[in-house]
Amino acid sequence: MAKFVLIGSGLAGGLLAAYLGRRGNDVDLYERRADPREGNIVGGRSINLALSTRGIHALEQIGIADEVMRHAIPMRGRMIHPAGAGSGTIFAPYDVDPNKHINSIGRAALNTTVIEAAQRYPNVRVHFNHRCTDIDLTEAVAHLETENGQVIVRADTVIGVDGAFSAVRQSMQLKIDNFEYDESYLAHGYKELTIPPAPDGSWQMEKEALHIWPRKSFMMIALPNPDGSFTCTLFWEFEGPRSFATTKSDPDVRRFFDEEFPDAVPLMPTLLEDFKNNATGSLVTIRCAPWSYKDKVALVGDAAHAVVPFYGQGMNAAFEDCVVLDECLAEFPQDRQRAFAKYFARRKENADALADLAVENFIEMRDKTASRAFRAKKKLDHLLEAALPGIYLPLYTMVTFTRIPYAQAACRARLQDRIVYGSLAIVVLILALLTFRFIAH
Ligand SMILES: Cc1cc2nc3c(=O)[nH]c(=O)nc-3n(C[C@H](O)[C@H](O)[C@H](O)COP(=O)(O)OP(=O)(O)OC[C@H]3O[C@@H](n4cnc5c(N)ncnc54)[C@H](O)[C@@H]3O)c2cc1C
Repeated sequence: MAKFVLIGSGLAGGLLAAYLGRRGNDVDLYERRADPREGNIVGGRSINLALSTRGIHALEQIGIADEVMRHAIPMRGRMIHPAGAGSGTIFAPYDVDPNKHINSIGRAALNTTVIEAAQRYPNVRVHFNHRCTDIDLTEAVAHLETENGQVIVRADTVIGVDGAFSAVRQSMQLKIDNFEYDESYLAHGYKELTIPPAPDGSWQMEKEALHIWPRKSFMMIALPNPDGSFTCTLFWEFEGPRSFATTKSDPDVRRFFDEEFPDAVPLMPTLLEDFKNNATGSLVTIRCAPWSYKDKVALVGDAAHAVVPFYGQGMNAAFEDCVVLDECLAEFPQDRQRAFAKYFARRKENADALADLAVENFIEMRDKTASRAFRAKKKLDHLLEAALPGIYLPLYTMVTFTRIPYAQAACRARLQDRIVYGSLAIVVLILALLTFRFIAH
């Protein structure tokens, strides 16, 4: 069995360590942060995430899905909060099947569960407070910084599971000729805010929904937490006449929220403190190639393909990477280089497709969800899905509730749209002709 060094024990790092440990490999997982079980968690990343079919499948394979789902809150659809005081809310279910829902899960609880799943294997060891600074690609050697100085660790393979700003990927970029790298930032940043529980500990809005305040060029969303609170995320332009850059003083922040989110403000007693104290995060898409170097180094999760969060799929895709990599390593047990090549071939086009879908879904969430036409299209989608089971699947359903590869889902959705809109156009044309003939008589 091989010796793996994994860099990064975020969401995918812990899960991958469990997968590799289950196959009997010797695994050392190095994380720059302190142990999340000691209260040091995530630092500025989303507090909760939407977990769906792909992620749940990956957790099931390692036997921890039930444990994770005990902490999850089902979200059965979008609760739209339209602009304008007193306009009420509109609920739009995610699927025609009411049993299909996404799940709000705390990052801290999930991170702890995957790390503990890995630690159940005696051949997996986790080391916190070890920051990777460099990788020697040809020797599969990782250089790490600790409180007590530099540590050098050798392995058969080093895997970078160290997130969007991966140090492992950076070493590959510096040392591999023609390494392809592309990062693109949205003009929007995000800030997390809180709606605390009601005095009796209950949720102050509908609990089983993902709340959206769509405002055309920006939006706020809120996901429920098990303690009765909601974590809100404001996605807003960094720059511009009305933006993070120009809205800093308490009165300005208050005015902006009163104008845009009047129903949320009374539920947000710590709004001004949260706005001031919580960092403004950036939203990046990262594409790179290749994802491996010989049989020595590979990338998994955000390190290989960070996407913006608007399809709620970054973590789900990172978990799916773990499943696919495990399958490829099992297929070529004596040839990790081939396994990595197969893993890349199976994942790259899907990661690229997801990156595009995620950016497109931002426009859908912040702008289109508020419109009647969009809701009519969703209803038509659900009608067709019910009428043509297994034949017509809306894009959101394919991405969120199936494991159809992302690229295939995007392609199939385009084809379906062409057929549906083409047919609708023909029906409208026939009706128009019939009406014309009727009038002419
Ligand atoms: C606002 C927001 C909302 C999101 N919502 C969702 C959602 O609803 N659903 C969803 O599926 N995805 C969501 N995502 C995406 C999701 O967070 C990521 O896709 C997921 O965390 C990727 O997992 P990962 O393990 O690859 O990286 P990470 O979770 O980022 O973990 C990387 C780990 O590596 C460690 N590390 C980094 N550098 C080093 C180093 N040099 N040495 C050692 N350790 C290092 C980090 O400390 C971290 O623990 C969201 C992201 C954001 C920003």
